[in-house]
Amino acid sequence: MKTQVAIIGGGPAGLLLSQLLDLQGIESVVLERHSREHVLARIRAGVLEWGSVEVLRNAGVGERMDTEGLLHDGSVIVWSAKHRFLIDTRRYAGRPMMAYGQTNITEDLYAARDAAGGTIIDEANDVTPHDLTGNPYVTYEKDGEQHRLDCNYVAGCDGFHGVSRASIPESILQTYEKDYPFGWLGILSRTPPLPELTYANHERGFALASMRNPMLSRYYVQCPLDDDVDEWPDERFWQELKSRFPEEIAAQIVTGPSIEKSIAPLRSFVAEPMRYGNLFLAGDAAHIVPPTGAKGLNLAISDVFYLSRALTQFYDNGSTDYLDRYSDMALRRVWGAARFSWWLTMLLHRFPDQGAFDHRAQEVELDYIASSEPAARSIAEQYAGLPFEE
Ligand SMILES: Cc1cc2nc3c(=O)[nH]c(=O)nc-3n(C[C@H](O)[C@H](O)[C@H](O)COP(=O)(O)OP(=O)(O)OC[C@H]3O[C@@H](n4cnc5c(N)ncnc54)[C@H](O)[C@@H]3O)c2cc1C
Repeated sequence: MKTQVAIIGGGPAGLLLSQLLDLQGIESVVLERHSREHVLARIRAGVLEWGSVEVLRNAGVGERMDTEGLLHDGSVIVWSAKHRFLIDTRRYAGRPMMAYGQTNITEDLYAARDAAGGTIIDEANDVTPHDLTGNPYVTYEKDGEQHRLDCNYVAGCDGFHGVSRASIPESILQTYEKDYPFGWLGILSRTPPLPELTYANHERGFALASMRNPMLSRYYVQCPLDDDVDEWPDERFWQELKSRFPEEIAAQIVTGPSIEKSIAPLRSFVAEPMRYGNLFLAGDAAHIVPPTGAKGLNLAISDVFYLSRALTQFYDNGSTDYLDRYSDMALRRVWGAARFSWWLTMLLHRFPDQGAFDHRAQEVELDYIASSEPAARSIAEQYAGLPFEE
């Protein structure tokens, strides 16, 4: 089989790339390791920057998002049981945020690819890219048979544990990594969310009240990394969650049975460069951020925007200008988001090795942000997401 762009990974990055390329008349084939049911069952991100909203609309997958997604002016931080601050993205960055689940985005993208007759090969095993600095091709096994896919370019959209980044020689790849000594215990419930996405810095640990749609809420509490979800029956979760918010906010939280419950570790990771020969990495294949800044999915979307534009330029007029600048351009945005996500994580969580001094310093920093317009503008600008480069 032959195509122009072989895309490894059928998560949001890979599906969106194939959709954007198709709109420009560029052929691609998506190779996904798991079944479609498995991919669609994953509950992950849910907060979109306005730049991401526009990319999805331009990709022709904005209709349901515009109907079911929840627009909001930013997010609230509460601390010391009484203080409240709105990260006002509409006021300071001129853009609202959109709450719309990654699962829905993935469903919308699958529907669009199916409608356009796109080729997505799921349950593809042993996907392996070859000859990345020459004439690239990808081999895989499907239903017990070996296949070969020849292409001009390979897009590595296969997430943190994928094969693409691992195909880059160690002598070329530089990685930067930081682990955090806690996890996020998250639940999804069919209950109306709080009116605003709300972060809590509390002496018992971080908490977050988030949303997916008017009848779907996502809540998190910081927990020890070695906790087991079985130790967290719903009743214990709701009690702990409410204890970390000021009373008037806790009173507004509508509880109900969880429909999903999981513990996710937090990690910062960046791999440089995001290109090796004819292989281009996009999304979690190249970087991971702790979810505090709600940046992971947004970065996957901005990488794909840059990469689709670069491939479009190449197939339009043969210029490799954007392809040659892809890694540097994407990494500038990635590092901005990685730094912001790390900073917000350090500001809002309680770390096991922290003492009273560190806690007061966090609270004083929050007091400062709430009282200083330049500080409020800075946090809002970064939370809203920096504009894409021309
Ligand atoms: C539990 C959790 C919660 C999260 N919460 C948030 C959040 O609140 N906000 C936020 O912004 N971000 C969040 N994220 C991050 C966000 O979900 C990711 O940044 C986003 O999924 C990145 O999309 P992607 O397409 O790059 O990677 P992925 O979604 O990981 O997709 C990669 C795809 O490649 C496939 N694949 C892997 N290896 C191979 C292979 N060898 N061959 C073929 N296919 C392969 C995988 O099956 C997968 O379908 C969360 C992530 C997790 C895990």
